[in-house]
Amino acid sequence: MPLPYGKQWIDEEDIAAVVDVLRSDWLTTGPKIEEFETAFAATTGVKYAVSFSSGTAALHGAASVIALRPGDEAITTPMTFCATANCLLYCGARPVFADVESDTLLIDPAEIERHITSQTRALVVVDYAGQPVALHEMSALADKYGLTVIEDACHALGARLEGRPVGGLSTMTVFSFHPVKHITTAEGGMVTTNDPGLAEKLRCFRNHGIGSDHRQRERLGSWFYEMVELGYNYRLTDLQCALGLSQLRKLDRWLARRREIAHRYDLALQQLPALRPLAVHSNVEHAYHLYVVQLDLEQLNGARSEIFAALRAEGIGVNVHYIPVHLHPFYRERGFAVAGSLPRAEAAYERILSLPLFPRMSDSDVDDVVEALHKVLSEFSR
Ligand SMILES: *Cc1c(COP(=O)(O)O)cnc(C)c1O
Repeated sequence: MPLPYGKQWIDEEDIAAVVDVLRSDWLTTGPKIEEFETAFAATTGVKYAVSFSSGTAALHGAASVIALRPGDEAITTPMTFCATANCLLYCGARPVFADVESDTLLIDPAEIERHITSQTRALVVVDYAGQPVALHEMSALADKYGLTVIEDACHALGARLEGRPVGGLSTMTVFSFHPVKHITTAEGGMVTTNDPGLAEKLRCFRNHGIGSDHRQRERLGSWFYEMVELGYNYRLTDLQCALGLSQLRKLDRWLARRREIAHRYDLALQQLPALRPLAVHSNVEHAYHLYVVQLDLEQLNGARSEIFAALRAEGIGVNVHYIPVHLHPFYRERGFAVAGSLPRAEAAYERILSLPLFPRMSDSDVDDVVEALHKVLSEFSR
């Protein structure tokens, strides 16, 4: 098994927490939901946290509660997982891709402004790799043009911008608890917001569009409920929330370890001029979901695919995040953006590699990665 790029860490405490719920009265929509949401809101410094069955469902919720509809446009980044843009299509809205900055691969605010039209309703931005986007600039654009900012922070749990935690810095912030992310509930997601109206709509949306949940009705001894919107079953279970609560207690330790590993890579890369780490803005505390390097192909005698294969052959599970969304067949065939229209994202795509990074990696794992990089890059050096 190669060293993967990311991996969960489940300990006995996590297992015991889930088993406790299995023995309890509530397997889903019980007390663990609120407990997890409350703890998550406290961690991210925000008033409301609404759990969802996945990060993708959470994105769908966020896009839906601002009533995006056919004819609307929202500006987003190509350098992300396709779910970021798909949530707009779920609502019938049109994703419009704006190019990224070459050094951070974060969406470029100047490019956003170029794409704003009278149809634009929202900005769906991504804290790529775990670095928060320049949210003051996004908010300024949002104020100027009357837009909502949805922040896809699936990479950025625990990141900070000017000392403030990601979670309450945009209208709605979305997180994922997939096993490769900072904490896991197997599948799971969350939307955080300081807006009580949006929080209420999100809770309704994840529960078929019904205003109350089963447990609330039990408490009131009532059978009556009304469906007021078209919603979905996007609920997270109590089993998963118990796991999430147990995982959340380890977040600070794991973040510290992610930053330590990133620092080791930073130092090692000083000896590897054919690799450039992404730039990190001075006013952020990076959450390091990913450690992404860009190959300096001018110094190398081989394409990314060859270097990727050579590193895999050394047992290093490097990965590529991401194929730019507009280049996927689904998006290409529907003409959302033609190849060549987002030159910085497309150029970066030819050069990026994600190095293994997860809290359980040992220092000697990191050394193995660095050693393999030295070996492979010297083989491919011009
Ligand atoms: C993981 C991820 C998602 C989707 O989350 P799921 O929980 O897998 O549905 C969305 N956006 C980004 C940027 C992600 O990394």
